[in-house]
Amino acid sequence: MPEVKFKYQDEAFVYPKLIDAINKLCEYKGKSCTCTSGYRSLEKQKIINAQVLAQHKNQGAYQLPNGAVYTPDGKCWASAYGKSNHCYCIAMDIGDSWFENLANTQLKQFGLVKTMTHEPWHVTLIELVGISENKKKFIRDTVLKGVSKDMNVKEFQVFAGLECDGIAGSKTKAKAKEVLQCCQKILGLNYQTAEEVIKDCMTKPENWLDKLKTIPYFSDFIMNIVRKMGGKK
Ligand SMILES: [Zn+2]
Repeated sequence: MPEVKFKYQDEAFVYPKLIDAINKLCEYKGKSCTCTSGYRSLEKQKIINAQVLAQHKNQGAYQLPNGAVYTPDGKCWASAYGKSNHCYCIAMDIGDSWFENLANTQLKQFGLVKTMTHEPWHVTLIELVGISENKKKFIRDTVLKGVSKDMNVKEFQVFAGLECDGIAGSKTKAKAKEVLQCCQKILGLNYQTAEEVIKDCMTKPENWLDKLKTIPYFSDFIMNIVRKMGGKK
C-alpha cells in the first residue's frame, strides 16, 4: 500500500493525524513518498540549521543569534531554535517531486497545506495553522511521550486527532473502542498473561519483528501490556 516512510527513524515522532493525512494522499495518488524531515530535537535542529545556512551561502544567507536562517530577500529557511513546527511534531518535509508539484488546492481535501511557497516540500495540517504555542507544546509533549505511559483523555484525543476537550463523550469512546479492536487484532486475542506474551516473543520472533518495524510505538505498546499484566495471575 502506498504510504509515507521516514528517512530517519529518530524523526518519526510526528502528530499521528498528520501522518494519516499524508498516507491518505499517498493512497489516493497510488504513490509512496519519503519524509526527509519530521520531528527535530534541538540537537538535530542545530545540525539542520547549519546545513541550511551552508546550502544558501551563495544567496547571501545569514544566521541570527536565535539560530534562524534568512536570505536577504526576506525568506526564512530555518526557524529559530526550538520554534520550528518540526520541533513541535506538526510539520513534515516530503522530498518527492510528485509531492512538491502539488498545489494547496489539491491538498485541501486531505486537510493538508503547504505554508511556505519557497518550500514546496514542507507540509502541515490546515487545522494546525495559527494554533497557540501552548497547544503546540501540548501536541509535542503528547507525541513524544508515546504510549509507554498511561494516557489521560485529553492526550488520547490528541493522539486520535479528536477535538481536545478532555471529555470522554461518544466520539472519544467510539475511537477508544476502535483503537482497542485494532490493538487486539495486532496482538491476537489469546494472550492471558505477561508470561505468554514474553514466551511468544522469544519463541516466534518472526511474528513480532516486522511489526516492531512497521507499527509506530508498537514496542512501547507491548512493554505497556507486559507491565500491566505483570501484576495479574
Ligand atoms: Zn520543513
